[in-house]
Amino acid sequence: MFNQVANRTRISSGDIIAMRESGASLEQIAETIGRTKERVRQILVKNIGTTRHNLLSTQQLYRQLGLPRTRVVELYKDGIITPKAEWKTGNHHYLLWSPNVAEIVTNYYNKNRLCKMCLKPLGKGRWVFCSDECYREGQKYKYKSGEAKRRHLENIKGYLERRRNRKTYFIESVPV
Ligand SMILES: [Zn+2]
Repeated sequence: MFNQVANRTRISSGDIIAMRESGASLEQIAETIGRTKERVRQILVKNIGTTRHNLLSTQQLYRQLGLPRTRVVELYKDGIITPKAEWKTGNHHYLLWSPNVAEIVTNYYNKNRLCKMCLKPLGKGRWVFCSDECYREGQKYKYKSGEAKRRHLENIKGYLERRRNRKTYFIESVPV
């Protein structure tokens, strides 16, 4: 016990700041250095004026980028972006991102033409959709623009109208 306390005294406020900046929670730091969470908070506020770190959660990152969550996770799995810190608790996998990751994603997207459907870069010979699946998905009504939806509904209306007229003609032409 006393040994532990002696070891703890070697941890400087710089270490605590570094831990916080790499995404550790106040609880995690408190546990590591064997002090209370409140003490950790005091040390951080005294040294850097805040307990906040400048890393982004995955949610903050995809909201900032305006991308779907799955796309950000794919960029991570494809190795395009690397989190500053990550850890697992139970079923949860936490990732923390430094703010320059947003810039990396933007540059990556500026360099590549992207699939209209899934936002993945297009391969050779592909111009709008990356795959046949995305092509089929892209043709669906729910993804059409307001104008295209209106045209689509008008085509249906026209078709129903023509069919109704045809029916009338057919019945009238049946000899009685
Ligand atoms: Zn696609």
